[in-house]
Amino acid sequence: MNTSTPKFLVEGLRLVSVCPACKKDGKTNVHILKSDRQTGLVHVTCQTCSHTMMAFLEQQRGGVSCVGLITDLSLQDARYFLDRQCLTADDVLLAHETLTTGDFLNTLLKPPCS
Ligand SMILES: [Zn+2]
Repeated sequence: MNTSTPKFLVEGLRLVSVCPACKKDGKTNVHILKSDRQTGLVHVTCQTCSHTMMAFLEQQRGGVSCVGLITDLSLQDARYFLDRQCLTADDVLLAHETLTTGDFLNTLLKPPCS
């Protein structure tokens, strides 16, 4: 965290200072993945039980709201997926076409080349 970290985000980090898995307070390692003037996305690792969580913080009138989700993503995984492009409708259609053709199953069941 540095001096340019939005104030609401600094205040909101106390919301993720308690591990939702083991309930230990103040034993979390928090990394800010992304933030702007009103929202922030953080990755939290519990130093006691090693569970990880991603939390979305948003500045609200009179406070900060937080929505957290326990995940198995490491900090590196989270950064990797954040940098990836979003799926498009074409990606979904391509996946559907690939999965619904007979060739897909044949490809999966084909013995490896020798
Ligand atoms: Zn924990």
